[in-house]
Amino acid sequence: MAKLYFRYGAMGSSKTANALMVRYNYYERGKKSLLLKPALENRDGESTIKSRIGLEAECLFVEDFLRDYERDENVVKEYDAIIVDEAQFLSAEQVDRLSDIVDFHNIPVICYGLRTDFQCNFFPGSERLLEVADKIEEVKTVCWCGRKATCNARIFNGKIVRDGEQVFMGGNESYIALCRKHFKEGKIS
Ligand SMILES: [Zn+2]
Repeated sequence: MAKLYFRYGAMGSSKTANALMVRYNYYERGKKSLLLKPALENRDGESTIKSRIGLEAECLFVEDFLRDYERDENVVKEYDAIIVDEAQFLSAEQVDRLSDIVDFHNIPVICYGLRTDFQCNFFPGSERLLEVADKIEEVKTVCWCGRKATCNARIFNGKIVRDGEQVFMGGNESYIALCRKHFKEGKIS
């Protein structure tokens, strides 16, 4: 049976690089996977998924793909797996549609994303994935102190920002992964 996976981690935990490696592993075995990301995640404004270490690949937007799937379920049949990057930005409903692909077409869906936002609150997509995913796995990264980083601090002018909108398209450089203690203390280095 196929499974719905949620692989979560803080900023800088190589989630995107992992997603692209999984895609490559399918490709190497002669299998076809589909890369998706929410259109909301439009840092680069393009339908590509880019990792910090330079790997990148073409993708489709989740919204467009699910619209096609709604019209004709057969669009999923050519794929052996579906890989979703930036899954925190999915809506709960989109997560549920993706879980339909697992349940009714037996195709694994592997979602990568942040667990929480810059205030340590769930993103809607992550919350729903934690509710319904079959397999929940952590992609780890460390704080500057060496402890596991679990919080995503939003940084402006070298200081932690505590208030603002959940989604702020400042790019990766506006965030830093910290352990919970240093997030509370606001110590970023
Ligand atoms: Zn720390």
